[in-house]
Amino acid sequence: MSVKVSLRPIVISGPSGTGKSTLLKRLFAEYPDSFGFSVSHTTRKPRPGEVDGIAYHFVERSTFDKLVEQNAFLEHAEFSGNCYGTSIKSVQDVAEKGKTCILDIDMQGVKSVKNTDLNARFLFLAPPSLEILRSRLVGRGTESEDSVAKRMSQAEKEMEFAKTGAHDEIIVNDDLDQTYADLKKFIFDPSA
Ligand code: ADP
Ligand code: 5GP
Repeated sequence: MSVKVSLRPIVISGPSGTGKSTLLKRLFAEYPDSFGFSVSHTTRKPRPGEVDGIAYHFVERSTFDKLVEQNAFLEHAEFSGNCYGTSIKSVQDVAEKGKTCILDIDMQGVKSVKNTDLNARFLFLAPPSLEILRSRLVGRGTESEDSVAKRMSQAEKEMEFAKTGAHDEIIVNDDLDQTYADLKKFIFDPSA
């Protein structure tokens, strides 16, 4: 289905494991012509099922550092021992297709993007509780114990940051269908 939407980019952030990718997959499947994902670069290893160039551009640290030197990134940050960055090209590619760009980035990225001229809208996706977040992260089966611990510690910082009012909206991802409906409302009805 193709629908006309606000062309302001949308930044979705929230603790790792809170459900961002799950919701975005659903959105892209329902509206393939309307939204485009800003494919970030990362130095972390792909998870099973993650395709290079679709989930991320998976690169070595040396490549990432070169891109930083070349000022290729709109923003970049270190998260849980790996580097992540939004290239200017990834955002331009989506805009050139006439689609609304969606970025999935952490709180450091949110702060950086606020200092650019991207004119984005910011959505924070929160877990119902930190306990439930942990069970989702563990249940996903992709993270080592050490990685879960690092992500949980970062999650607390993300939750504190969300209290500062940096985001346009906060949605708690409890029931997935309800959250998806709330997400669409935020996207399609910015004044709601
Ligand atoms: P993120 O992209 O924010 O790191 P994911 O989308 O990978 O998170 O979701 C983490 C895990 O939680 C996945 O296994 C996913 O299936 C599950 N999940 C997502 N949303 C919900 C929900 N509302 N209720 C229960 N499980 C969920
Ligand atoms: P994951 O490893 O779970 O895919 O992502 C870890 C964290 O990195 C998530 O909070 C995700 O939003 C964030 N992230 C993904 N891409 C980028 C990016 O390009 N920039 C920043 N700052 N964070 C990113």
